Amino acid sequence: MVLFLTLLLVFVSLGNAASTSRNRLTSGPPIVSEQQTQDWLHLWQKRLHLEDWKIDVKIVRIWDLEQVPHRTATIKVLNPSDYELPKDKIPADMELSIVHELVHLHLSVLPLNKATRGAEEQVVTMLADALVDLEHHPVSTE
Ligand SMILES: [Zn+2]
Repeated sequence: MVLFLTLLLVFVSLGNAASTSRNRLTSGPPIVSEQQTQDWLHLWQKRLHLEDWKIDVKIVRIWDLEQVPHRTATIKVLNPSDYELPKDKIPADMELSIVHELVHLHLSVLPLNKATRGAEEQVVTMLADALVDLEHHPVSTE
């Protein structure tokens, strides 16, 4: 399936994004590597049966989050330098962001409807949170 679709993580990431200090966390090894994001994409794309999509994931700086139409889905995850979360929380948030956007792809077959957008967001958030939580806490009894 090919759609004109660019998925942004504004809703997921902006709440954690730094609005100042562009150079935070820019020295030293990356907190999350491009390879790690590719690994998450491959794992979750397969797990969510989205193999017939051409999906790319890119780590971008906050000023590169503008929407650009493509014939494929591009998931842009925020560069850790632009996060305000503690370093140890960032990888989990980035993985969750990728899974969240992949779940959105499933719902993108539905007609666009502003009236249900909020409900869709709630559903996607709940499913993505549950999936990632299950991935990392498979024996949780909560
Ligand atoms: Zn969403």
